[in-house]
Amino acid sequence: MPQQRLRVLFMASEVAPFAKTGGLAEVASALPRALRALGHDVRLLMPKYRGVEAHCGELRVVIPQVRVPLGDRMAEGALWEGRAPSGLPIYFLAHDHYYDRDGLYGTNDGDYWDNCERFIFFCRGGLEALSTLGRDTAQGWRPQLIHANDWQTGLVPVYLRTLYHDHPGLGRAATLFTIHNLAYQGVFWHYDMPMTGLGWDLFTPAGIEFYGKINFLKGGLVFADLLTTVSRTYAHEIRTAELGDGLEGVLEERSQDLRGVVNGIDYGVWNPETDAALARRYSVSALEGRAACRAALCRELGLDATPELLLGMVTRLTGQKGLDLTLEALPELLAAGASLVLLGSGAPHLEEAFTEAAAQHPGRVAVRIGYDDDLARRIYAGVDCFLMPSRYEPCGLGQLIALRYGAVPIVRRTGGLADTVRAFDTARRAGTGFLFDGFSAEDLVDAVRRAVAVHRDQGLWSGLVRHAMAEDFSWDASARDYVMLYRKALRARPPRA
Ligand code: ADP
Repeated sequence: MPQQRLRVLFMASEVAPFAKTGGLAEVASALPRALRALGHDVRLLMPKYRGVEAHCGELRVVIPQVRVPLGDRMAEGALWEGRAPSGLPIYFLAHDHYYDRDGLYGTNDGDYWDNCERFIFFCRGGLEALSTLGRDTAQGWRPQLIHANDWQTGLVPVYLRTLYHDHPGLGRAATLFTIHNLAYQGVFWHYDMPMTGLGWDLFTPAGIEFYGKINFLKGGLVFADLLTTVSRTYAHEIRTAELGDGLEGVLEERSQDLRGVVNGIDYGVWNPETDAALARRYSVSALEGRAACRAALCRELGLDATPELLLGMVTRLTGQKGLDLTLEALPELLAAGASLVLLGSGAPHLEEAFTEAAAQHPGRVAVRIGYDDDLARRIYAGVDCFLMPSRYEPCGLGQLIALRYGAVPIVRRTGGLADTVRAFDTARRAGTGFLFDGFSAEDLVDAVRRAVAVHRDQGLWSGLVRHAMAEDFSWDASARDYVMLYRKALRARPPRA
């Protein structure tokens, strides 16, 4: 019997290429595309930030007025429709005062002071817009399931089970909520509670209250039909005090409904055979181009022409990513024969420390501060090893791109890194990278030394690079897992008789 085609709304605060600060945007772009390839009717909804038009051929208003009560006020926005590069319909919820700004969530000085209001508007406004879309427009489209992501959409499952419970079109919509990073929870003071429109009866430990404050993410965790996070190991880790960020109890309670589904990457977007940013293209069966990319990268960044082992990092500069560890280990890494390329931006003290390290070690350490997709691609294609010594890592996309481009990952055994990189076994010539356990400079240096040793045997190394490139982390398998979970969530919420 043919499987039913599902109608899914994928709701996220960032979708590449329209707006991106991290991995969520990549997932929000690639997963819906993979779901469509499986035959499902998936549409996207995100805020209409400044500049989204640049990535959209034609944008049109589909609902001129979306009215959202915010306590005793009424906020008014509009719903626009465009097409994502994948061809999928994408809706943008517009409200210029909230979203027509330089940043998505804040500036270098911190988060926007009104983020609570901005994302209440997104959650509730999204549902209001869907309500109208299903009722009044020619399209008459309504989702059977809403796939919400991270704290910015955490109130969507709450609204659906409370204020919209009896809504004729939306009340039975199932919800799946995905945690991309538990550390960001959207926590706001209780004075904002009336603006949510939710009753104070929800402001309890069993609801959305968290140590006297409102916690959007917790709303998603408590009220969604099913929960996922982006790797199996992280799904276990977030149920522990160490990585649960205070929500381990809630997650433990919902452990029957929590699954880990590993992220993929879009193999069309990330492909060294077609990547226009590279000095030379290459493939697993024709690796010569990779050596040319390595040489070109060294030239571009002013590195010595023949580093023994070239390490690369492309990352947000935050505490999560183990950059303090890298700085501490740097003298020993250099002594072990490694050189380092880093592209990233973020915390000013880390930007300064890495810039300083590059000045101290010309020819051996190159640092570029900023966000640069093309340079990132040349780094993936040119370095021998890609370093991710993360303190924690829900999934990580860097190591997946690195595998695809033949940059052997050196990673800490945590979260998705543990699930996607297989330890290289010299005797069996099996595995795809190097792992270490302790969050210490010593353990990191040890892993890099192991890589240096294998790299000295070029036959062994090229076998390892081929294994890495032969891994398949395209979205197809994970998209099928999501479809299975969507169906499970829908079974839990049969239509009203
Ligand atoms: P996170 O989502 O925690 O930042 P991920 O590894 O899941 O980490 O995803 C990071 C993505 O952002 C990768 O695709 C990486 O290549 C990209 N990226 C991070 N920093 C930069 C940068 N400065 N320039 C270009 N791409 C970057």
